[in-house]
Amino acid sequence: MTQGDEFEQQTRLERMLAKLKSHDFRITPQRLAVLRILSVSEDHPSAEQIYERVKTEFPTTSLATIYKTIALLKELNEILELGFPDGRNRYDGTKPFPHPHMICTKCRKIMDPYLISLDDLMQEMSEKTGFRISYHRLDFFGVCRECQKAE
Ligand code: ZN
Ligand code: MN
Repeated sequence: MTQGDEFEQQTRLERMLAKLKSHDFRITPQRLAVLRILSVSEDHPSAEQIYERVKTEFPTTSLATIYKTIALLKELNEILELGFPDGRNRYDGTKPFPHPHMICTKCRKIMDPYLISLDDLMQEMSEKTGFRISYHRLDFFGVCRECQKAE
């Protein structure tokens, strides 16, 4: 398993569309707008944030449409859901595969640093446990640069 360099951002929308079409899902203008936002949003928006962004273009969009589209993409492995105990889950449509996240506990900013050591870490984990790794969840929590300055 690699961090998926083959997933280039400009092809994300096309990939999502192809996947939905191959499963006979109808692409409504609202759904297309949700896909477009998810394919370029690198800040891991919540469903509510996606809703706010789609609403500027389609004021009649409902939050239910957002949730339905997210559920669909999750089922097709075209979006990564970051679950949080407070229920405000966040979504990464730009990298729909497991990757490490750095999460600010003050402003809830979420970053995707590329870690050279990830492959080594997975290999070590596998060697020490004898497991064949299917996926991982690797979240780091801390205080971001901006929030440190504001302290
Ligand atoms: Zn912060
Ligand atoms: Mn991410």
